[in-house]
This record gives sequence, structure tokens and C-alpha cells, in this order.
Amino acid sequence: MGRRRSGQQAHLVLGARTARRRAAVAGVLADYEEFVSARELHALAVARGVRVGLTTVYRALRELEEGGLADVVMDESGERLYRPRPADGHQHYLICRSCGTSRPVDSAALEEWVEHVAGSSEFAALEHQVQLTGICAPCQPEAAPAESGAGSPALGGGQPSAAHG
Ligand SMILES: [Zn+2]
Ligand SMILES: [Zn+2]
Repeated sequence: MGRRRSGQQAHLVLGARTARRRAAVAGVLADYEEFVSARELHALAVARGVRVGLTTVYRALRELEEGGLADVVMDESGERLYRPRPADGHQHYLICRSCGTSRPVDSAALEEWVEHVAGSSEFAALEHQVQLTGICAPCQPEAAPAESGAGSPALGGGQPSAAHG
């Protein structure tokens, strides 16, 4: 494999090989059903026997993102997390800050608003990223004691309750 004919040919071979690796990365991402960082995805690919470097994984993810094939969110440390974009368009997700699990959310109203803004502004090629994070049910601590008995707060202080009479 050490033959070196022309620089151009070597480049083409490299290109094909890179394309295959990137396709493999996309395949691993497609099978993973949660948001995943480049490093995690790299580890998953290697575990599957896909021989790729972390740099290739980063580039592949970047290409997927730029091609509109992946949705991206930032985790708390600012690391980019990727998830394949559904065929019918981009999706917004609710993501657990504790375990990272995610679920798609209905964002029709949001998309409508985005279209309205786009239509009424002079900006072109608008893009948006909206991410909702929270703590999923399994990650929530045991139900907090709602009332700890002694000293329940006196109501009626400044509470605008229903008008009397
Ligand atoms: Zn969770
Ligand atoms: Zn959207």
C-alpha cells in the first residue's frame, strides 16, 4: 500500500477512504438514539470496530450538521452533542441535565414564530437553536417533603384571594 504515483491520485484515494469513514461515523450516530458528543461517538465507533480517528469523527459530525442531517445542542460545559435529524425536518428536544436522555418536543408554535420573524425581517437564511433542558423523572430526587408538619406558613397575609362579599 506504499505506492506513490501522483499526488493527485493519492489525494483521491484518501478522499474515498475518508468518505467511507465518515459514512461509518454517520451510521454509528444513526443507531444511537440519544445526543452524543464527538468523543463518545468515537468510542462507540471504535468499540464497533470502525477504525476512525477522533478528528475524522469531529469532521464527519460537522459535515452532518452543515448538511442539515444532524441536530446539535450544547451540554453544560459547552461541548457539542449531536443527534441525527429526522427525515421530515429538524426537531427540538427536551434534554435531561442529569443523565442526558432526550425526547422530541412539539415545536410547531416555535417554527411558526420563526417563520413570522423571518418573513418580517430583512434577514435571510435565518437559523435557530432552541434547547430545553430539565431533570427527567427517573433523575428527580425522591419526592421532596411537601409539608414538614410544624410551622405551616400562615396564609392570608398578602394573598389576593377571592374577594369577599
Ligand atoms: Zn435524567
Ligand atoms: Zn426549530
